Amino acid sequence: MGLFSRLFGPASPLAKSGGHHATSAAGSDRNAVWVYVRCKKCGEVVALRLRKSDEIQRDCDGVCTTPGAVFFVRKDVMGTKCFNRMDLLVEFDVNYRVVGHKVIGGELVTREDYAKLQGAQAGS
Ligand SMILES: [Zn+2]
Repeated sequence: MGLFSRLFGPASPLAKSGGHHATSAAGSDRNAVWVYVRCKKCGEVVALRLRKSDEIQRDCDGVCTTPGAVFFVRKDVMGTKCFNRMDLLVEFDVNYRVVGHKVIGGELVTREDYAKLQGAQAGS
C-alpha cells in the first residue's frame, strides 16, 4: 500500500497547484500573447501562443525599431501546409500590446482576420 499512497499522496503536483485551471478563450490569456501569421506562399494562417515567461524577450536594445517597444519575440515559424519558413519579429509595449512587427516570408494578421479565414475554410 506504500506505493499507492505515494502515487496519489498530497505531494503530487496536481494536488499542489490546486485551484481552477480553466483555460479561457484565446485572447484573454494572462500568461501569453497570441499572434497570427499568414504564410506568404500558401496563405495558411498560423496561430502562435507566445508565453510571457520564457518566449517574450525583455531586452529590446538593438532589436526593436518601434518607439515604445520594450519586449520582443523572434521566432521561426512554419505552417503545416508548406515548408516556407517565416522569420517573425514582434515588438510589444509594457502592456504586451503589439506595437511593431516584421515578418519575412509572411505577414502578421489580426485575430479577426484569423477567425474570418477559419470560418471561410470551414464553410467551403
Ligand atoms: Zn505556407
